[in-house]
Amino acid sequence: MGYVLTGATLIDGNGGAPLNNAAVYIEGERIAWVGSAADLPSAAKNAKQIDVSGKWLMPGLIDAHIHICYNGSDSVFTLLEKHRDDLVLEAVDICERTLSQGVTTIRDVGGEQYIEMSLRNAINRGFIRGPRMKLSGRVISMTGGHAHFIAREADGPDEMRKAAREQIKAGADLVKLMATGGSATPGQDIHASQLTVEEISAVTEVAHMMGRHVAAHCHGTGGIRNCMLGGVDTIEHGTYLDEETADMMVANSAQLVLTLGAGNPELESYPLSPVQQADAERRKPMIEQGVKQIRKTIALARTKGIFLGIGTDAGGNPLAPHQFAMARELELLVENDLTAMEAITIGTRNNAEVLRWEDEIGTVEAGKYADLLLLDADPLVDIRNLRDIAAVYKGGEKV
Ligand SMILES: [Zn+2]
Repeated sequence: MGYVLTGATLIDGNGGAPLNNAAVYIEGERIAWVGSAADLPSAAKNAKQIDVSGKWLMPGLIDAHIHICYNGSDSVFTLLEKHRDDLVLEAVDICERTLSQGVTTIRDVGGEQYIEMSLRNAINRGFIRGPRMKLSGRVISMTGGHAHFIAREADGPDEMRKAAREQIKAGADLVKLMATGGSATPGQDIHASQLTVEEISAVTEVAHMMGRHVAAHCHGTGGIRNCMLGGVDTIEHGTYLDEETADMMVANSAQLVLTLGAGNPELESYPLSPVQQADAERRKPMIEQGVKQIRKTIALARTKGIFLGIGTDAGGNPLAPHQFAMARELELLVENDLTAMEAITIGTRNNAEVLRWEDEIGTVEAGKYADLLLLDADPLVDIRNLRDIAAVYKGGEKV
């Protein structure tokens, strides 16, 4: 039977001009037909018509870098002291909130005790509501490396191979490496490289053999270089990209997943706890420096034609709550001189490619899942209208 959403202005995710008075015919979980309402095929005319005129329809957002098991407001050390059941129950709430904020798919790049695998199972079986998921399982770091307190620590190619295979055994769709220091780990130098080319290559070899892609956390230039020599598929953050590493990324067809909100937290929008205030104080110089640096990196990446994805890093530190984080992320792309349309395309179609899921999600096209975001106001006029949500559909079902 199905139903038709009719009359909205459609932004299909491909970056072309919006289509006025569009119709999207949904049968079961998938889009059966999309086009101008005037051209609606006869099969769709008999289906239930839902008038959404005066609204904007676009693909559900995809967050290409998130940590769904962490709330993004407590310190990681507090989280690690919590009972696993408490983490699980809060993560259920985070899943539901993420979806209700228009994010229909996520790529989790650092989980906790494989809770994220159970969340995915529960969502797929309909026990709880949440986004579609691609998951890395535990991050892999060197002994004492970035986020070592949640990582599978490994040293040397043999151990790295085993660590990667453990994640895949647990159900991982990709493998996540920590190739440089990170600011969320106190006392670290973000410029320091933390994995050798040999170690990285060992992981990409076994991951690719198993059909998985490899993502690597990188701030410093040396880490990006090592990752390109080692065959990594996606650079996460990529803060200190330079000419040479940008050229290497293009040559390798590697993708850059920016995370702007994590480096530029929206501190004004919610009351900060004492833990958050302390973290904001500690990271203040890093944040100021990082915002300036990432502007250069984005400009360089665009000049070189590097494929861009985007993620929130929500949950990744105590100043990264799951609160309209993806909307904020696209707002920050616009602040960095991208058009609203470019930002939306990166947050939908491009991110589907980052997730290796572009056949099924990321654009409003026949055959794909009916993962849709309906807005009350035009996001092309003001990208902040992404927070003005009228409805979210996942697999054709209104959330
Ligand atoms: Zn992260």
